[in-house]
Amino acid sequence: MKGICILGATGSIGVSTLDVVARHPNLYKVIALTANSNIDVLYAQCLQHQPDYAVVVNADSAALFKDKLKDSAIAGITVLSGKQALEQVATLDAVDSVMAAIVGAAGLLPSLAAAKAGKTVLLANKEALVMSGDIFMQAVSESGAQLLPIDSEHNAIFQCMPAAYKAGNSNKHVRRILLTASGGPFRQMPLEQMAGVTPAQAVAHPNWDMGKKISVDSATMMNKGLEMIEACLLFAMSPDQIQVVIHPQSVIHSMVDYVDGTVLAQLGNPDMRIPIAHALAWPARFESGAKPLNIFDVGRMDFEEANLERFPCLRLAYKAIAAGGIIPTVLNAANEIAVEAFLNEQIRFTDIPVVIEACMDQFEATIANTLDIILAVDEQARIITQKIITELR
Ligand code: NAD
Ligand code: MG
Repeated sequence: MKGICILGATGSIGVSTLDVVARHPNLYKVIALTANSNIDVLYAQCLQHQPDYAVVVNADSAALFKDKLKDSAIAGITVLSGKQALEQVATLDAVDSVMAAIVGAAGLLPSLAAAKAGKTVLLANKEALVMSGDIFMQAVSESGAQLLPIDSEHNAIFQCMPAAYKAGNSNKHVRRILLTASGGPFRQMPLEQMAGVTPAQAVAHPNWDMGKKISVDSATMMNKGLEMIEACLLFAMSPDQIQVVIHPQSVIHSMVDYVDGTVLAQLGNPDMRIPIAHALAWPARFESGAKPLNIFDVGRMDFEEANLERFPCLRLAYKAIAAGGIIPTVLNAANEIAVEAFLNEQIRFTDIPVVIEACMDQFEATIANTLDIILAVDEQARIITQKIITELR
């Protein structure tokens, strides 16, 4: 029986993870669940899964949560609050696996703590990896942690790698990676209409049901940009070895092209429980609850190149990784702020890349070899992006 801690339990990935875990009660024991402030969902999850610990980061929400627990059937759960508590529960002795499913930079410290503690890290939180880059991968290799990708594309790539492959290692037999992308909801929208895109339109993804932030990232294709950087780090490859392929049906979740001309692909319905179940069961397999793929329903699969004029965010991700150093950290921070401003209707959809690039241009690509540097740059880039947004309005 393995102990699991789910960071970001109340989000889209967290809920799917608990759905899979509940199918295998003899294999996983839930040790800790964390949320930022959504105590209603967390309460229901605690009732069902009976964790030892529940973390509510927001102090006011944590106080309400404690009240709610009093005199309930689950009054024995230890409730913690504050950011530090995330690291505490991610490194408990009873925890073998940590699902890193907090959205954005807020997930960096607990995910990194889990990696340093040598846990099996199930990584959904791509922003944490993109912003910390080599520091994160170094923590994994130094502690001997097992890093299993949850992002569907990276999980697909991992599955197409040789059996003994460990994330972070290079493989000389792999020529390149074909990173698939649905193209999001605006793949075919006339370019002149893109400025008028509303938050409601942007979060309505055609194939996947996800949190708001990643849905907007999918619409701008910054998600694919972050994933390209994520792939370079997880599979020790250079950006020119990653080919982004638009595949609107989202049935192939990525491919690995080997030196002998073999191309391996992983297919499945677009359901995050598939990569989650793969990582939870790895190196074995078990049921995920996802519908089996009916290839006749799929009928046909299309592939096209990504249009960088339509999706400038993808170009910015290539620019960031080419510059190197702190620039991917800047890219990520500026994107988080720009997406939030778009969701709050402070900027237009097409302003997102403009704001990010203006921020990136204010930084030199200095070296990013300590956590302190990463955290300071992240903070600074957020302030600068806010200023750019205020000036734009
Ligand atoms: P979500 O918005 O649905 O959930 C986010 C979770 O993080 C919630 O539990 C929330 O309480 C928690 N959280 C938010 N801010 C926090 C903070 N400041 N401190 C502590 N906790 C905080 O997001 P999601 O769609 O589940 O995505 C989670 C991560 O997984 C993201 O990094 C995303 O890119 C990645 N991912 C998601 C999907 C998907 O299908 N949803 C697919 C691939 C990768
Ligand atoms: Mg993905």
